[in-house]
Amino acid sequence: MKAILTVLGSGTSMGVPTLGCDCAVCHSSDPHDRRTRPSVMIEYGGRVVLIDTSPDFYTQALRENITRVDAVFYTHTHADHILGIDDLRPLSYLHKPGKLPLYARPDAAAFLRRMFTYIFDGDYKYGSLPQLELKPIDGPVDVLGARFEPIILIHGETQICGYRFGSAAYLTDHSDIPDSSLAQLEGLDILFLDALRHKPHPTHSTVQNSLRIVDRLRPKRAFFTHICHDLAHEATNATLPRHVRLSHDGMKLEFEI
Ligand SMILES: [Zn+2]
Ligand SMILES: [Zn+2]
Ligand SMILES: [Zn+2]
Repeated sequence: MKAILTVLGSGTSMGVPTLGCDCAVCHSSDPHDRRTRPSVMIEYGGRVVLIDTSPDFYTQALRENITRVDAVFYTHTHADHILGIDDLRPLSYLHKPGKLPLYARPDAAAFLRRMFTYIFDGDYKYGSLPQLELKPIDGPVDVLGARFEPIILIHGETQICGYRFGSAAYLTDHSDIPDSSLAQLEGLDILFLDALRHKPHPTHSTVQNSLRIVDRLRPKRAFFTHICHDLAHEATNATLPRHVRLSHDGMKLEFEI
């Protein structure tokens, strides 16, 4: 089945421009250098699935004219990946039948339940609540005719997950990828990888390191995301092999799911 992946946000946790920063990239006039917080949307067969809901989800949804969401997959519970959860509210009212499902590893689902008690606590009496339902997963799930497979990633000292869906995979916030996970990433058309910057970082991958992963996995095309203000879009792309590009907000890619 044909599917479309849309990059909702390609930026790191602080976004680009970064508040208070006077560097050249934060003041660039190239729209590709404006990066909202990281998330992607996958559309197939009339369905809309999100990976993460960033603090910028509201503006991303307006920009991409998102009028329905059928499911959300969470990679982990850092603020830059979850804080848009409350903006699912109006879309959750349109979801039929029942509540909008949120898929996450059991530890991440438990954290979301604690962090957003007002959403998941049936006794909360004030205001109109998002109609969301947590669905802990520890293996592949079939969602509305497509299979989503969690891929374990190392993010500093924690384990989180990326996802493979058909011929594409979205991996963000990894400082390392275990061999068992690399084995799940053979034969990809599209591979998204974390590439924060050039300088090493304890919880994120670098351009160099992610290029090594591309060399090892040999996807048809690779795209970098979770990018900070160290990397100017055009100048960085000019240094990359043709089949590897920095992603940018609003980028759309076709693939088979
Ligand atoms: Zn992040
Ligand atoms: Zn800057
Ligand atoms: Zn993170």
